[in-house]
Amino acid sequence: MSPVDAGRGDRRVPMALLTRRWTPDEKVVDEEGKTVTRIRVKRACNGCGALLGDVTDQEMSRAISGLAPLDVTNECPFCQRSAK
Ligand SMILES: [Zn+2]
Repeated sequence: MSPVDAGRGDRRVPMALLTRRWTPDEKVVDEEGKTVTRIRVKRACNGCGALLGDVTDQEMSRAISGLAPLDVTNECPFCQRSAK
């Protein structure tokens, strides 16, 4: 399967290979008694779309400003393997 066929974000990077922090989703009960899920936005590899971990403040600022994301394929075990 090519990275394009895999689609964005559906490749699972084993936790042991992650170099970033990975904040899990958290269910909390809000002040109205409703259960809500808090998530931390995840950074996807710009080579294959695998989720690599929590987005950084700098990456979020770039996205909000409309700047192109920095290349993170060097963090991705799938892209590192295919580059060799
Ligand atoms: Zn990748």
